[in-house]
Amino acid sequence: MKKLSIFGATGSIGQNTIDLIARDRDAYQVVALTGGHNVEQLARDAIALNAAVAVTAHDACYPALQAALAGSGVEAAAGQGALVEAADRPADWVMSAIVGAAGLEPGLRALQQGAALALANKESMVCAGPLVMATARAHGGQVLPVDSEHSAVFQALTGEQLDAVERVIITASGGAFRDWTIEQMARATPEQAATHPNWDMGQRITIDSASMFNKALELIETHEFFGIEPAKIETVIHPESLIHALVGFRDGGLMAHVGVPDMRHAIGYALHYPERRALPVERLDLARIGSMTFRPADTERWPALRLAREVMEAGGLAGAAFNAAKERALDAFIDRRIGFLDMARVVEAVLTKLSRERGLIDAEVTLDNVRGVDHLARVTADAVMDTDKRQYEWT
Ligand code: NDP
Ligand code: MG
Repeated sequence: MKKLSIFGATGSIGQNTIDLIARDRDAYQVVALTGGHNVEQLARDAIALNAAVAVTAHDACYPALQAALAGSGVEAAAGQGALVEAADRPADWVMSAIVGAAGLEPGLRALQQGAALALANKESMVCAGPLVMATARAHGGQVLPVDSEHSAVFQALTGEQLDAVERVIITASGGAFRDWTIEQMARATPEQAATHPNWDMGQRITIDSASMFNKALELIETHEFFGIEPAKIETVIHPESLIHALVGFRDGGLMAHVGVPDMRHAIGYALHYPERRALPVERLDLARIGSMTFRPADTERWPALRLAREVMEAGGLAGAAFNAAKERALDAFIDRRIGFLDMARVVEAVLTKLSRERGLIDAEVTLDNVRGVDHLARVTADAVMDTDKRQYEWT
């Protein structure tokens, strides 16, 4: 029986993971399920899957979790310490599906206890790619990509030599506003940005898809995960979201990964790796689809893509600063304190300010340094938005 834990079990990726596990209940022993505010869902799933422990990230949610689990035999726990402790519990496979930089530490701890880490939390790679990969190597663990594009690249690279890779093309749907004018985008509301044309995902990643910050994180993730140099990583708008990524080899051949937009493919691939098992995803009927289209990804329209290149070139802790500033700007957009296009302006201002601090970005990628830069970038983002309030005022 495979022992597994799911971090971020109540979210979109977490629920898709549970869907797969629940179909083959006897094959798995569930160690820990974690969530945040959605205590009811967490308790329901923990009881149904007979988890050893259910953890909410928030201390304030502890009484509700305890009440929901009363008499079930599932242990209840709460807080950051409990999350990390849950990651220390031996498991063969751990799903990292917390949203944001908060997912980094539990993922590192899971690798330290030797688990295979199924990584949906791309922020871990953006903030601390070298640390994540070194931790996996040091403990004989493996990181398995769950982001659909990276799962696609991973699959296309199977049996290939990395030095034969000429380029990697990460596709982007273009998100909610791909056909909007820049003037319309400037007035976009959080509700409009949180609707995705093809994928059903959490609110934050859906808004990041519209701004292309999601794609920016994914370009950096590609660089960190596979060690591909930035100049070889491209992106193209592919509105149908059927090709998830392509790998181009030096003989001119392009290997594409094609499938319906359903995260259970990438999750299932990581769950059963290195085997390929049957998965409950819809099969593509190419004749019915008829055509697939592509267009260039415009960096005027989506400055996040340009910023991602700067971050990859800078290396070090630039990714941690970028991600934290983005998280803060996204909070402000969701709270209607800044406009949609202001998010990239805030992130760029933070990167410019922090890169002037001597040695800050070049420091070694350790958990402490990542935390330090993460904190500084958030404080700087708040200061930028506060100082330039009028500039960022939402209309
Ligand atoms: P959701 O917002 O749907 O879920 C996030 C999960 O993390 C929930 O369980 C939430 O708990 C929990 N959580 C939120 N904040 C914290 C915190 N501070 N500490 C601990 N737990 C927390 O996100 P998604 O499932 O969409 O995304 C999860 C990760 O996977 C992200 O990194 C995203 O970029 C990545 N990803 C997602 C894809 C998708 O299809 N959704 C595709 C590719 C990558 P609660 O809801 O109970 O408060
Ligand atoms: Mg993706």
